[in-house]
Amino acid sequence: MKLQKMVILTSGSSQAHIKMYIGIDLGGTKTESIILDKKGNELERIRKSTPKNYNGTLDIVCELVNYLEDKYKSKCSVGVGSPGALSFENDCIKGGNSTWLNNRPLKKDLELRLNRNIFLENDANCFALSESIDGAGKNDDVVFGVIIGTGVGGGLVINNKIINGHNNITGEWGHNQMPLGSNDKWNRHDCYCGKKGCIETFLSGPGFSRHFYDMFRINLDAKIIQDNANNGDEKSLEFISQYLDYLARGLSQVINIVDPGAIVLGGGVSNMKQIYENINPKLKKYVFSDTVNTKVLKHIHGDSSGVRGAADLGRSGELNQ
Ligand SMILES: [Zn+2]
Repeated sequence: MKLQKMVILTSGSSQAHIKMYIGIDLGGTKTESIILDKKGNELERIRKSTPKNYNGTLDIVCELVNYLEDKYKSKCSVGVGSPGALSFENDCIKGGNSTWLNNRPLKKDLELRLNRNIFLENDANCFALSESIDGAGKNDDVVFGVIIGTGVGGGLVINNKIINGHNNITGEWGHNQMPLGSNDKWNRHDCYCGKKGCIETFLSGPGFSRHFYDMFRINLDAKIIQDNANNGDEKSLEFISQYLDYLARGLSQVINIVDPGAIVLGGGVSNMKQIYENINPKLKKYVFSDTVNTKVLKHIHGDSSGVRGAADLGRSGELNQ
């Protein structure tokens, strides 16, 4: 028995003995790495500028993993949060805004270089996982994580497990069409995905500014509009009430299909306190139910959720055992 255990340890092939978890978040400008212990405590975090080419990305991931494993003298599980998603067709990244990763077999190449299996997930899925495991959604079995920033993404986690779906697009609610009523005269702006009037074009930071402009013919950054609202500016408050209506329409589609216990918001727009004070009565207008008990919550890990979630990819299987 003892001998068998030693064999497993020296081969390094079993995750049963891994006690630390490395996460790497491949952001557009920063590449962040973290190492967590078994309880999810952060031992160290490192940030580097993102090399904007494919080989540079492989190099920096390996450099960070090797550094942390040397320092902590542990063979760790490695999880990577990446823009876009792995295509089931050819195992290459698709649809990422870090375009140098697209159509490249990032997971396979990293596995070859690091000589092990690694985990790789979309960054919104990592966010959702992190908030589900020990963040704002930790008390709920079904958690829908939403990132509203320059784009609108999402991820679904059930019992601490990411649900990918058969096309690896679960949670991409941002590219559903915004449901409009016959009296709504809002502009339907073009989306980068090729369609018009996607939820993302209403809710993202740039969408926020564009619809404020449509309403008042004033060009302002989303953050400034939010600051003005907090200082009592009437136009900004009127617009935010309208924005919450867009948000409620978008989220009602998610609730009608998935009916999660918690929806956790991340990204720049999630810092708007008006959301949490006012969204549930608005949701009631659009969700097909007499009750809307869904909790819409602000993230707990914030900007760290992506990198923590990447590390949690290795942790989550063990948490469920
Ligand atoms: Zn779209």
